[in-house]
Amino acid sequence: MGKVSPWLPDELLIQVDTNAIDSVSSDFGKLVKVMPVAVLYPSSDRDVLQLVKFSYNSHNPFPIAARGRSHSIHGQATAKNGVVVEMTWLEKHHPSRIRVSSSPNSSRFYVDVGGEQLWFDVLRATYDYGLAPVSWTDYLYLTVGGTLSNGGISGQSFRYGPQINNVIEMDIITGKGEMVTCSKQINSGLFYGVLGGLGQFGIITRARIPLEKAPKMVKWVRLLYHDFSSFTRDQEHLISINKGFDYVEGSLIMRKSPPNNWRSSFFSPSDQVLINSLVVKHGIIYCLEVVKYYDDLSVEYVDEEMGLLLGGLGFLPGFTFQKEVGFVEFLDRVRRGELELQAKGLWDVPHPWLNLFVPKSGIMDFNEGAFVNILHKQNQTTGTILVYPVKRNKWDDRMSAVIPDEDIFYSVGLLRSGSDADWEILENQNKEILKFCEKAGIKAKQYLPHYRTREEWMNHFGSKWDTFRERKAQFDPKMILSPGQGIFNSD
Ligand code: FAD
Repeated sequence: MGKVSPWLPDELLIQVDTNAIDSVSSDFGKLVKVMPVAVLYPSSDRDVLQLVKFSYNSHNPFPIAARGRSHSIHGQATAKNGVVVEMTWLEKHHPSRIRVSSSPNSSRFYVDVGGEQLWFDVLRATYDYGLAPVSWTDYLYLTVGGTLSNGGISGQSFRYGPQINNVIEMDIITGKGEMVTCSKQINSGLFYGVLGGLGQFGIITRARIPLEKAPKMVKWVRLLYHDFSSFTRDQEHLISINKGFDYVEGSLIMRKSPPNNWRSSFFSPSDQVLINSLVVKHGIIYCLEVVKYYDDLSVEYVDEEMGLLLGGLGFLPGFTFQKEVGFVEFLDRVRRGELELQAKGLWDVPHPWLNLFVPKSGIMDFNEGAFVNILHKQNQTTGTILVYPVKRNKWDDRMSAVIPDEDIFYSVGLLRSGSDADWEILENQNKEILKFCEKAGIKAKQYLPHYRTREEWMNHFGSKWDTFRERKAQFDPKMILSPGQGIFNSD
């Protein structure tokens, strides 16, 4: 164990040695290195509370970052010259920080989870009761606190909204070192501020998530298009149907974005040969991905329902591919790819990712300007490109999360990997895409945003900026929390 810094309470498990500092100085992106001076390994929420209170009350308040799985890209979960809190240590001391309960006098179920918990563990624990949350991310090895600080989106978002739209109550340690319970009714400013608030107002130590009956199985279908306008027309049609599919996403297949990737191995070797011949012919193929849940009661009519939903869609005849898997296997589909990449040493590499919300009015231009003229033409893409629509009315505007000002917008994820030698080429391409949007008048918003200047942040938040700043002054007036976002603590 390293030397404990003299200015930190010595009853806390704090390390300042090079190994500890090094282990929290980078993240999934592997693009930046930011050095804190110490790491807290908390054994309880009280330890975190004590640390924040100590900073708040000291003459020289120091920055503090909660670190979930550190699956950020640009050092968002780090704290230069401050203390990083390894949130996942909370779970080591209290393995039961996931509790399923029902509301008194009603049949509604919910789960109380520690902010450090992984969504996969939430799934495992709730599924034991035949229950599950309704809104997910594609990948489940992210913490509840980390995704609630951003949004938490996947193919279920069009129906249920993002994960931040599916929270009943939270316990928060504010930047003043106070533990506050908040909900839509109690301390609602803090509640809405924290959801999508990029860690600026408090550290989430507990979130209460509503549960529904979990399905047993899923029918999982992929349909191929070469025409972007038919692809998006069908996506938009499918998210407009009331009792339609339970999950709608989409992705691009190109020479360097093959049909199977780390997000899921779906296609058989012979399917891949067939699809690759389409790619040679058309350059870009668009893959619509839909899922229908079912269980013992609905098994009889699920095929008929699927047939009705797929009828009339404009995919390439003959290019439909189907699988049936268990609900848990479907939700955890990315893990297998992760483990395979890890085994090959290809997971721990630079990830210059760019995530955007593109308004519906600009998506055709975005396809032409970004997908066709930049990504396809420059042929640098190595990785997954996602594109799927979500609905604005499933996002509560009182939350901090920022989305475009249109009823429907597209989640676009450029989830690419590079090497130490070439990641900057991909990062420059991202910049080129952002510049293209600006020039073409496409009012896209960054999801998991990354900016360097105050002006850029103000522009990002737009009409929400004043409220965001006021909440900062109210809940973290000394600007202690989540400095790695660079909103109030830019260099
Ligand atoms: P961290 O990176 O550790 O932290 C992110 C931010 O939240 C930091 O500012 C940190 O200080 C703050 N924070 C962390 N914990 C807390 C807490 N308890 N209270 C308050 N603030 C906190 N996103 C999606 O929406 N959908 C996806 O499908 C999806 N898939 C992904 C797949 C992969 C492989 C990766 C790497 C990322 C993916 N993401 C996805 C993005 C992901 O949601 C965000 O990067 C998220 O922040 C990661 O959670 P984390 O636990 O690693 O957070």
